[in-house]
Amino acid sequence: MIFCDKCSNLMISEKRDGKLKNVCRKCGYVSRDKNVHATNILEKIETRNDKINIILEDTTLEQYPIDKKMVCPKCDNKGAYWYMQQTRAADEPPTMFLCCTKCKHKWREY
Ligand SMILES: [Zn+2]
Ligand SMILES: [Zn+2]
Repeated sequence: MIFCDKCSNLMISEKRDGKLKNVCRKCGYVSRDKNVHATNILEKIETRNDKINIILEDTTLEQYPIDKKMVCPKCDNKGAYWYMQQTRAADEPPTMFLCCTKCKHKWREY
């Protein structure tokens, strides 16, 4: 969804001068380029994925609690560091990330 730069209302796609543009329904503001907004949305998603990757690559795993009942799917070692992470919308339950204490294999529980 694209919002107006001027009044923050939802913008709709409309044909102007033969080109599809985003037009504000309230104040009539026309955004300069539809593709500019599309790129912005992509960047946001990439940034979000980066955040997850950074957390997964965290080398200071010792700060997290260990669940001794968790069995590593890779090396069958019992015991894994675990932590909860909100990955998507705030109203969805957080994802549980696990990291094997032995081989450092990382996986998720849903
Ligand atoms: Zn507007
Ligand atoms: Zn393991």
